[in-house]
Amino acid sequence: MLDAVTGQNQFESQVDIDIVASFNRDRGDWHFGEEPAPAGTIDFTSIVLHEIGHGLNYTSVLNYDTGFGGYGFDINDSGQIDEDERLPGPFTKSLVEEQPGGSQLSLVNENEFPNPSVELGDALTSDRLFFTGNRAEEAAGQGNGPPRPKMYAPDEYNSGSSIAHLDEETYPFESTNALMTPFAEQAETNRLPGPIVCGQLLDMGWSLGTGCQRYFRGLFAVSVQEVDGQSGSRTLSWSEANDANIQEYIVDRRYFGGSFEEMKRVDASEVAGSSLTVENLGVGAFEFRLRWVRENGSTASSPERVRDTITVRDVSTTITGRDEQGRGTVDLSWTVPPGTSSDFLYRVERRTGEEGAFQPVATVPQDGDASDEQSKQYTVKGQTPGRYEYRVRAQDGAGNAVTSAAREAQIDFEGDVYALGPYPNPVRETASFDLTAREPQSVQVEVYNTLGEQVYAEQREVRAQDPTSLSIDASQWASGMYFLRLRGDGSVGQTKKMIVVQ
Ligand SMILES: [Zn+2]
Repeated sequence: MLDAVTGQNQFESQVDIDIVASFNRDRGDWHFGEEPAPAGTIDFTSIVLHEIGHGLNYTSVLNYDTGFGGYGFDINDSGQIDEDERLPGPFTKSLVEEQPGGSQLSLVNENEFPNPSVELGDALTSDRLFFTGNRAEEAAGQGNGPPRPKMYAPDEYNSGSSIAHLDEETYPFESTNALMTPFAEQAETNRLPGPIVCGQLLDMGWSLGTGCQRYFRGLFAVSVQEVDGQSGSRTLSWSEANDANIQEYIVDRRYFGGSFEEMKRVDASEVAGSSLTVENLGVGAFEFRLRWVRENGSTASSPERVRDTITVRDVSTTITGRDEQGRGTVDLSWTVPPGTSSDFLYRVERRTGEEGAFQPVATVPQDGDASDEQSKQYTVKGQTPGRYEYRVRAQDGAGNAVTSAAREAQIDFEGDVYALGPYPNPVRETASFDLTAREPQSVQVEVYNTLGEQVYAEQREVRAQDPTSLSIDASQWASGMYFLRLRGDGSVGQTKKMIVVQ
């Protein structure tokens, strides 16, 4: 509450508590649970919701003492309200006293109500206090009570109940707006704030969840869904108030953060079930907005930002062949949804092993007209055995990009370690090898000459299924035959013959 009164976070450096509420555990008549409270019990849920309402600043900083009314909060805890602590907070600022002629006087108008004063004290016990605010009044207008929410201000001031509650008589037992009335009777069950409290919270600066939004908008809770079997399409759904009287719906689309453009306009008679489908969106990052025209000609738009991203789909990898060294051919294919702009390029990206970074491999262009779904394919030959992941990054002419999910391609091999090489063979300056280990391990790489002398040794840490290339400088070696030995942890070694020609 203090945060709201002062407009500042008072507990920034301390524990982050915003609402403190106490409930009497000694009472024997609490009703817990979802069912309405039966006779003879007090509904615990309703009481907790009521107290949360107070915690959301449905509370006044007004006080009353022997005829004098005032407001303020002892922020520095000095035991009195100092001059600079006479702050009304947003709730008190919204309160007015209705005058006999029907006009309204604000309680924080210090010309009429000095703080503190007998005038303010009289107002607090006038039974004519109301809450002003556009949304609170709009909500009050939906019911058959007074046109502004009437606050509880009995002629005998009650420090626990007066002012920061709706009037008990005007909003009686279990009526729509009864949650924030001062008294809860046995068996009274109020689980919804009702339109007036929602409107008051909105007027005090809160934003509303969808449960409250329904009281103020013809249309609310907009969401977006994929359409089964229809790539590049999306369905927008929403909820609608019974009295929305909408004549026409308009879907606006925003592409990669650009400006909103109208995509579709539909007469209400053609809309069934509060949803609309937009087709041929193509690849992109989108934001959607709904606008509507009411029967009286007024227009409005959804404040929700409904976003979705459409990437290329059906990305798949197939190993279509192996060469005599066991290296694989990987066919990567994907589908481009209809409506994709003709300036798109598709960059094939790959990573090796379990966790490497994705690197670009190739770029495949769009083939002209993209009004129909397109299938694309890219083939990579000579892949050293191991595990790979491929994905497709679609990028338009302006550089906007979306990336597909990654797909695995596993090229199998026999044994614990696969080694390919040396190449070139015969070796001249450098001997190169490709190496893949089934499990992560330390591989001992050694080269011996025909006399059994070691001419090279290296310990190489290799990750599981992650092809590694090995380059050995052979420029200082004499021409002749050499043996490369690979030994992993606990695995059988491999020996490869190589000829060096200098
Ligand atoms: Zn209360």
